[in-house]
Amino acid sequence: MNSIVSSPNSPVIITGGASGIGLACAQALADVGRPVAIWDLDSEKVNSIASSIKTNTGVNTFGLAVDVADLAQIEKGIALSQEHLGTFGGLVHAAGIAGVCPLEQLTEATWNTVLDINLRSWPFLIKALLSDLKKTTGASVVSISSINATLGNALNPSYSASKAGMLGINRALADDLARYNIRINAVSPGQILTPMIQQAIDHDSSIQQAFEQRILMGRLGKPREVATAVRFLLSDEASYITGTELVVDGGNISSQR
Ligand code: NAD
Repeated sequence: MNSIVSSPNSPVIITGGASGIGLACAQALADVGRPVAIWDLDSEKVNSIASSIKTNTGVNTFGLAVDVADLAQIEKGIALSQEHLGTFGGLVHAAGIAGVCPLEQLTEATWNTVLDINLRSWPFLIKALLSDLKKTTGASVVSISSINATLGNALNPSYSASKAGMLGINRALADDLARYNIRINAVSPGQILTPMIQQAIDHDSSIQQAFEQRILMGRLGKPREVATAVRFLLSDEASYITGTELVVDGGNISSQR
């Protein structure tokens, strides 16, 4: 357990790994031989995803039901994941909820739910995994933020706060973790076609066109297009990148349309 592990092959924990961007991250990492612990809420779903990735890639995987809003479950989840996959050199926090709730409907409970899942869990995940990360050469962690960390949207003040908060935490922790050569970064996706965005499109079919009109590349993103950016930040190819935000939005923040 105390041996130095080389980062390109070290296992990675992925929260929210049963759907959308988290699932694409698990697949993209397994594709290059990195074992993955896939965490999500539904035990049956994570187990079936973990075993199908293992069958398709031959790479070790482990599926586990962990609610990241519950800090005790995070601690237990890490211990169980270590038993199955060993020492972790990477972490992706993709678990998140959209938390659509404008100011006039906002309640303390909705605010807390969004912040607990999306943001509060993040520093505690890193803290619980820190001894593994310290042992791994080139360890790296990535949080999935959002263009809403930057762009104002009346529908989601709590979500925007959670995603902007991630960028602040990452800069603070980049200062702390650099002495152990652990890197920390955020990937901020634009509108990516996952169940989260599909729900919004199902609710209002005109929304897809409205999104696409603004995006310079004229289309929604694919989960894999975010996952490859995450995989890059977790790899030694990104060895001098820490405390930053990699925007993957097809030209959305940069758009004047
Ligand atoms: P998704 O709904 O497809 O996947 C999110 C996953 O997180 C789900 O499997 C869900 O079960 C899991 N999850 C929710 N609460 C959890 C909890 N308490 N504990 C553990 N798992 C939990 O959504 P997605 O679009 O893939 O989103 C992934 C991340 O990307 C989220 O953080 C989201 O905010 C962010 N993001 C998405 C988009 C987009 O356009 N899809 C844009 C910007 C940012």
